[in-house]
Parts: sequence; structure tokens; C-alpha cells
Amino acid sequence: MKYSKDVAVKQGYDVLVAGGGPAGIGAAVAAGREGLKTLLVESNGMLGGVSTAGALPFCLGKTSGSIPFLKMVEQGLSYENLPHPMTAVAGLFDEIISRIKQEGGGVGPCKLGQTDQYPGLRRLGCHDEFTFDLETGKRVLDEVVTEAGVDILFYTQALDVSVENNQVQGVYLVNKDGMTFVPVKAVIDCTGDADLISRAGYATYKGDRETGKMAGISFVIHIENIDSGAIEAYLNHGGHPWFFEACQKAIEEHPELDLPRNLIIFPMVQDGVFMVNGGTTHNGYDGTSAEDLTRIALMGRQRAKHLVEYVFRKHIPGAENCRLRLSAVTPGVRETRRIVGEYTLTAEDMLEGKRFPDTIALAGRHFDLARGAKNMAEGHGDVQPFADKGLSVKGRIASIPYFSMIPKGSRNILAAGRCIAADGQALGPVRIMSTCMAIGQAAGLAAKLALDNGCPFKEIDVEQLRNAIRSKGGIVDVPEA
Ligand SMILES: Cc1cc2nc3c(=O)[nH]c(=O)nc-3n(C[C@H](O)[C@H](O)[C@H](O)COP(=O)(O)OP(=O)(O)OC[C@H]3O[C@@H](n4cnc5c(N)ncnc54)[C@H](O)[C@@H]3O)c2cc1C
Repeated sequence: MKYSKDVAVKQGYDVLVAGGGPAGIGAAVAAGREGLKTLLVESNGMLGGVSTAGALPFCLGKTSGSIPFLKMVEQGLSYENLPHPMTAVAGLFDEIISRIKQEGGGVGPCKLGQTDQYPGLRRLGCHDEFTFDLETGKRVLDEVVTEAGVDILFYTQALDVSVENNQVQGVYLVNKDGMTFVPVKAVIDCTGDADLISRAGYATYKGDRETGKMAGISFVIHIENIDSGAIEAYLNHGGHPWFFEACQKAIEEHPELDLPRNLIIFPMVQDGVFMVNGGTTHNGYDGTSAEDLTRIALMGRQRAKHLVEYVFRKHIPGAENCRLRLSAVTPGVRETRRIVGEYTLTAEDMLEGKRFPDTIALAGRHFDLARGAKNMAEGHGDVQPFADKGLSVKGRIASIPYFSMIPKGSRNILAAGRCIAADGQALGPVRIMSTCMAIGQAAGLAAKLALDNGCPFKEIDVEQLRNAIRSKGGIVDVPEA
């Protein structure tokens, strides 16, 4: 079936950034501050992507030194006694978190919410997280992006592109106005799913290259009115931070329900509020399918009710009177399409500690993508091939090359964020929020160089780009261990 209708042509832009998650924010702010006429198109009504609409205000990756969570727990480590971390991400990420903190809306990095009062809760954390109040975060992100001179268009899907002579001419948008066309000089695809790059006809693939399996999708919830002191006491007396026993009891009492075998909960900034991430995951679904996303939302809200009533209230200490505070606006999609890049970053590159001459950002987290595991515990146990190697990557930090952002054969479209060319397990460290924002920032600065020089993205002077990133406080040089 074909659809044909006249489409209104809107005003043109230098750069259109599709997707307002961490990568899109980085890209749009960097481009806008460089004086490029920039449009940021976001299908939700807020910026932040997974961090806000996904109900995951828990940005990792500012520093290196993390190890797989289960290993940390097994070894009795918490973030205070992990190997000395190196800074992996700074620049715009630092600026945003310090603005949120100035307003009293954020905690960290290297400090969990509620831990002034309940230091024992640190056993639930990692070592590098920045946690923030969702409402403060959403508003500060609006402010940072608009102050950069960027036009934002919410509630709008970037649908398709028009390509002539291998040059993207513009982007089709769809929203309450119907379908419109925005002429552009360059596009940065920060949709997480490489929506525009795949529609432009450049090569992409989904999930694991060999099996096609994609990491599970979580429907994250926040639960409130939990006695944090009781959780702390449970942890201080040897309770497992993944609450295996509580889940087992609930499963025995309710075998008819699809309950998880463990939970991964994190204290939020507000006393008594916990985010539930592990325990809300569904495997075998495709985050680029509206039908699958709908199923996840339907199952997720049912799971939320069951978790509150049958797991938390019954078996988690201090949660007898807890309530569901909120559920995610959109399912948390870890992995879908990735581009085939001019260069494809691999896990082997990371393990070897490869340092690229075109490094535009660093990643400090470990390999953490479990594909198809029933729950996180299984994922860490047998699906994750690198878990046993202990520390994340050689030197505990990985370089991300600029050429992994360029779709193979393209001229004026870039990927930023979790859809760059990072193969297999390499996606784990790359997809972390702070790292995605750093990649986005590099993309916005690359757009300035490409448009100023009238050249394709792959022909810009990479050292000039690295200098531009350095001048904005970004990190492109691997620090000495
Ligand atoms: C369940 C889960 C738990 C995670 N835990 C952590 C964690 O604890 N800490 C951490 O640092 N990272 C975590 N991550 C990873 C991290 O959140 C993501 O990888 C990161 O947010 C990716 O950033 P992004 O900007 O590439 O994409 P996203 O954050 O996914 O943002 C993409 C944005 O694009 C929009 N969009 C998509 N398609 C279109 C379109 N066609 N048109 C317009 N807009 C569009 C979406 O609405 C969204 O706002 C987690 C991820 C998941 C899913």
C-alpha cells in the first residue's frame, strides 16, 4: 500500500536532532551553542529519554572502576572500596548535574540518595551514580536546551528522511499538525533505535549480530513509603541486596503469577522512595515494535501491582505500607538497532585497551548487557561473557572513536548515543547515560565543523573536533591509571 499526500514544508534548520535523551541533549546543546540553527524533535513531552520518561534518574559512568554488580556484592564491596576510579566523562554532563544539584534536586556522583541518613544503603548502589529528582531534572533539561538557542518540538515523531544523491535533504515529522517536512543541512540521529539512519537506507542491525537477541526491556517503577532504616538493617545483617529470598517466597505463594527471581532496587533522593529496575524486565521483545512496547506497558503495570502487593508489602522489610509512586512513561529499551559504522567498536577493542586517534569520548562501565536471560542474576551468571574478567576494560576505561558514529557510506547524518556502531558486548559501556551525553556533545561539535567546511562528516579534521571537545571540558584523552 502506498500513501501519497502533499506535505507542508516548515522552516529549515542547519541541524535536526532526533530524540531528546542524553545523547540528543548533548548534540542539540553543543550545536546550538555553536550558533547552528538547531531543532530537537522528541516523541515524548520531556527531555531525558530513559533517565526521565523511563523513570531511571540514575546516571552512571562519570568515573571508571565499576565491576559487575553481582561480583561487587559477592566480594562484599560497595562503591567506597572499589579500585580508585578515573574520570571518564565531564563537559556538559558535569554542567547539567551541578545545575540540578544547585537546586537541591540531585545527589552524587559517588553518593547515593538517602545515604547521609542511611549509609548502609550504599550496598545497593554502584560507585558512580548521579541520582536526581525527576521533576527538577526535567525542568533543568528544558532550561539548558532552550538557553542554548535550540528549538524543541515535543510530542513529535521523526518519521523519515528524504535523501538525494546520498545527501539527506530533510526530515518528515508527524504530530498533531499531521505530517510536515523540515529541510536540513545535517541530521543527528539520537533516537536510540537509529530510526532515521535506517530509513535513509544505511545499514543497521538489531541486537546480537549472530543471534539477533536483544537485551530485555524493563518497565521501571518507583515505590514509596518504605522504611529505609529497615532496609539498611536488613542489609547490615547479611540480607542479600538482590532480595532472592523475598522473591522466592512470593513465587511459592503465587505460582500462577510471572514474578521475578530477584530485585534490583536503588534509593532515590527522597527518603523512603526506591526505584525498581531489576525485577521489571521482560525478555524476547523488540523495542522498535509498537505492538511489543504496548505489551510491555500492559504487562509492566500488572507486574507493578504484583510487586507491591505480593513481594514488597509481604516480604521486604520496612515495606509493609508501601505504595506505587509512579511507573515509567515509556518502557526502558536497552538495545535495538545499531548502525554499521565507518568503524565498528568491538568488545575486543575494549578488552585490549585500544586507544583510537579519533577518540571523542570515554566509557568507564563494565560489560553489562544480558540478552535473553530470565532475570539479571542469570544474565550476570552465564550470559555475560566478560563478567569473569573482573574489571571492565583494560586500564578500566574504553575509547570511543568518532568513526563509530558515522553510518557507512553516508555524508550528512550521524548517530549518537546507544545506536552507534558498538558491536555485541561493547554496547554495554557505550550505552551508559553520561557516556551517551558525551557522544552527543561530540556529534553537535562535529556538525559545526562539517557545516563550516561544507564537507561530509567523515572528512572533518578529527583533531580539530577533539580540540573543540577539550575546549568544552570534555575528555578525549585516556588518563594515566
Ligand atoms: C532499563 C534500563 C536501565 C538502565 N540503567 C541505567 C543506569 O542505571 N544508568 C545509566 O547511566 N544508564 C542506564 N541505562 C542505559 C541508558 O539509560 C540508555 O542507554 C541511554 O539513556 C541511551 O541514551 P540515548 O540518548 O541514546 O537514548 P534514550 O535515552 O533511549 O533516548 C532516546 C530518545 O529519543 C526519543 N525518540 C525515539 N525515537 C524517536 C523518533 N523517531 N522521533 C522522535 N523522538 C524519538 C525517545 O522518546 C527518547 O526520549 C539503562 C537503560 C535501560 C533501558
